[in-house]
Amino acid sequence: MDDQYHMETLAVRAGTLTTEFGENSEALFLNSSFRFKSAAQAAARFGGKEPGNIYSRFTNPTVTMFQDKLSALEGAEQCVATSSGMSAILATIMGICSAGDHVVTSRSIFGTTVQLFTNILKRWGLEVTLVSLTDVDAWKAAVKPNTKLFFVETPSNPLTEIGDIARLAQVAHAAGAYLAVDNCFCTPALQQPLKLGADIVIHSATKYIDGQGRVLGGAVLGSKALIEPVYGFLRTAGVTMSAFNAWVFVKGMETLQVRMEAHAARALAIAQWLEQQPRVARVYYPGLASHPQYVLAKQQQRLGGGIVSFEVKPRAGQTEQEAAWEVIDATQLISITANLGDAKSTITHPASTTHSRISPEARAEAGIKDSLIRIAVGLEYVEDLKADLQLLTQA
Ligand SMILES: *Cc1c(COP(=O)(O)O)cnc(C)c1O
Repeated sequence: MDDQYHMETLAVRAGTLTTEFGENSEALFLNSSFRFKSAAQAAARFGGKEPGNIYSRFTNPTVTMFQDKLSALEGAEQCVATSSGMSAILATIMGICSAGDHVVTSRSIFGTTVQLFTNILKRWGLEVTLVSLTDVDAWKAAVKPNTKLFFVETPSNPLTEIGDIARLAQVAHAAGAYLAVDNCFCTPALQQPLKLGADIVIHSATKYIDGQGRVLGGAVLGSKALIEPVYGFLRTAGVTMSAFNAWVFVKGMETLQVRMEAHAARALAIAQWLEQQPRVARVYYPGLASHPQYVLAKQQQRLGGGIVSFEVKPRAGQTEQEAAWEVIDATQLISITANLGDAKSTITHPASTTHSRISPEARAEAGIKDSLIRIAVGLEYVEDLKADLQLLTQA
């Protein structure tokens, strides 16, 4: 099916399993275990000689439908669904790396991922080097004999820097390492990292795959050989996606393509409008010609995505943070929350929330100013969103 049909069709049709009742939408299997016809069948299932469901920690039909649909969209051989995006990242490292292995990643990855790598996994013997996302030579220079994995997130949060997936894949492969891409911001609707040379794709399904801010989940995708040990970790450790959450995600994926196009169209309109406003010093959006990696973004992603960040110009006597907080507090419609990928637009002050746990010096080095605001553009009418940001129009 995957070769025959286009993305929109796969999003609606791929991965569906139908029971004897002939339901036209995917069924929710809220049960922990599955019955066998005989002791021999139980033995065959447990021994891996017969495919089929055993126990929902590692086999559940609704979760299987989620995995098969997302595999079709990413062009992956295999997918493992997990309880959250963070557990997808943990399962990837646990499945693929061992103590003493080295991971190269960028400073501009999701904050909790940095914490997982540097505070927790380091204690278990993982070596981690942080480099600049956009400097391919720095990735090359960071390689050591024990380098096992490059871990990339593109576009980055909140500054929407672009990592060059194809070039980083070449550098990783030349070093005998794998390239993993956290594809949370684009989803396969806008970017398919495996087709660009990446080995592993990771998702926080919590974001755009759900699309309405309801449930948590994650996924790891790639070739059978690479994903099998990740599945082995999940089967044993139980970082499992619940069947209910899988059912919500399957429903979300049917509309993923149309939603991502709608998010991106609104985000581009907002970004272009922001560039015209007297109180805006700078706008970060990969779909703008002013973005330093506009050309690369155009090659690598179908559209700019739904995240726009910008710096506010303080009024006389205001600090940068006061200026940003004033704009945020003046909104009536947009939700003040750090989540993203929701139909409801959200507004965040990264320096005092998502990036507050890193030192002011590290924040400055990462280019995250106190005047920076991030908007995850939802699906509301664009003019209503602009009206909610009217403060920016007053010089
Ligand atoms: C939210 C997020 C995660 C973590 O996902 P959870 O589902 O919250 O565990 C990982 N990577 C990126 C880019 C994210 O935005």
